[in-house]
Amino acid sequence: MDDAVTDTEVVVVGTGVSGLAALHHLKARGVDVVALERNPDVGGTWYHNRYPGCRFDSESYTYGYSFSQEVLREWHWKERYSPQPENLRYLRFVTEKLALRDVIRFNTTVTGAHWEESTRTWVVHIEGGRSIRSRFLMTCLGMLSTPTMPRVDGIDTFEGPSFHTFDWPKDGIDLRGKRVGVVGTGATGVQAIAAIAPEVASLTVFQRRPNWHTPLGNSEITVEEMAEIRSRYDEIFALCAVSPGGYVHQPDRRGFHSLTAEQRRRFWEELYAQPGFAVWLANFREIFVDREANAEFSAFVAEKVRERVHDPELAEKLIPKDHGFGVQRVPLETNYYEVYNRDNVRLVDLQQTPMVGVTLTGIKTTEEDFELDVIVYATGFDAITGPYEQLDIRGVGGRLLKDKWVDGPETYLGLLVRHFPNLLMVAGPQSSSSSVNFPRSIEAQVDWCMGLLDHLRRNGLTRLEPTAEAEREWVAYVAHLYEKLLMREARSWFTGYNSNIPGREHGQVRHVMFNGGQPKYREILDAVASSDYRELVLS
Ligand code: NAP
Repeated sequence: MDDAVTDTEVVVVGTGVSGLAALHHLKARGVDVVALERNPDVGGTWYHNRYPGCRFDSESYTYGYSFSQEVLREWHWKERYSPQPENLRYLRFVTEKLALRDVIRFNTTVTGAHWEESTRTWVVHIEGGRSIRSRFLMTCLGMLSTPTMPRVDGIDTFEGPSFHTFDWPKDGIDLRGKRVGVVGTGATGVQAIAAIAPEVASLTVFQRRPNWHTPLGNSEITVEEMAEIRSRYDEIFALCAVSPGGYVHQPDRRGFHSLTAEQRRRFWEELYAQPGFAVWLANFREIFVDREANAEFSAFVAEKVRERVHDPELAEKLIPKDHGFGVQRVPLETNYYEVYNRDNVRLVDLQQTPMVGVTLTGIKTTEEDFELDVIVYATGFDAITGPYEQLDIRGVGGRLLKDKWVDGPETYLGLLVRHFPNLLMVAGPQSSSSSVNFPRSIEAQVDWCMGLLDHLRRNGLTRLEPTAEAEREWVAYVAHLYEKLLMREARSWFTGYNSNIPGREHGQVRHVMFNGGQPKYREILDAVASSDYRELVLS
């Protein structure tokens, strides 16, 4: 790219799954676009998360982009739940196939963006002092791209390698024969723990609150199977489009209470044996809203844990007692529980013996000093709003986005923000991205943004902003959707909880995601577009 070019129609920030989709559509329209990427390559989350065991929990063939027949025709998903190296290879393949690389500036970290009313442009600031001026700012920052570390004493004093899973060493790290500690047992932790347990000398898992984990059920996709999948792509994407979660799984509509306990149990045995999120998303809808249904199913899954972990006392420590199944995002696992039957693995229950700090040589709890060679922090993210709040984004009158969102995000459709004109967020707060199979959600958002940009171009308009009323109503609607769900009580990034960020410990719920399901979300986006964007002030 020519660095002297400073004016463009659209700046896209980030070239992960959503940034690449946005770039493709913008380029296809002949829009003048520049993408800024902090990494030396595309991929976003799949560029960063290189920890062993990292893979999809979406069926691979539902995760790929649906908009390029060429990519659909040529790409072979080799596993039902594809692993990180393959996913990164896929995104590189798409980048080359769709010729996106020439408009991406790599190793370019955006520090902020300031709206300039007089010129109706964003001035996007880049680390090192440069800036680029653009009519529209399209942020494709990812929802889980700001990792958070524990707030404990001594975290920087450990003498061996220690890192967050998001920052797993790019060239890998040889863990064979090492004493490894893993902090955190969310979706990331359980994938990493199960993958590294067989190769390390000893593995100490520091668990604060257990999660409900169910089997992933990964398998190979043969050439013949892939040919069959290719022939059904239209059908597969159509199925995802009518599913609340954007997956192939459809909720069971018979109703929890219409079946006997024995019938429910038989159904759950079938679900538990199925791969992927069937156990969560093809279950009775009551699981999400009805305490009795949720408790009964949680008891069923608890039995599975007891069957899989030989030591009964240990099994109890691995069974959540503070929340029911599926109110937090369900981490899918491969032999996770069996790991605890190994002699080289030990679980440290941080509820019984809290972590006191990190030392030069390991981790100290109230009970014991653990000597470690490597510490892995699988401790999660400043999710959804974090990537935005890290940036110095200033809208009309210099107002800081972070200040506007101090009590929780306020957006319209999760895509636009009042007083931040011409800002288009993909996978932003209060969109459906976090509750839906990610690519299925972001494709709808990118399509909507393209429709809006087309509308502006057609009508010679250069400024867009949601009305105060539209934003107020959206924020209230998103909050209302939480009220129906048991999930509103969860200590999870779904409710804005993060114990490592002051003020975000359990307590106040932040309404960070749209929980109405993807069909509803798409219906709303379509309705706004067909009303010629009545809820926006366009000029
Ligand atoms: P997470 O779900 O937020 O889990 C973080 C874990 O770290 C929790 O067990 C948490 O315990 C623990 N933790 C945090 N701070 C701690 C501290 N100071 N001391 C001790 N323990 C601490 O994060 P994640 O596992 O990275 O997953 C985030 C999301 O990424 C998932 O929900 C999923 O959407 C996505 N993901 C998807 C896949 C996939 O299969 N495709 C894989 C990985 C991640 P508490 O619960 O007690 O706070």
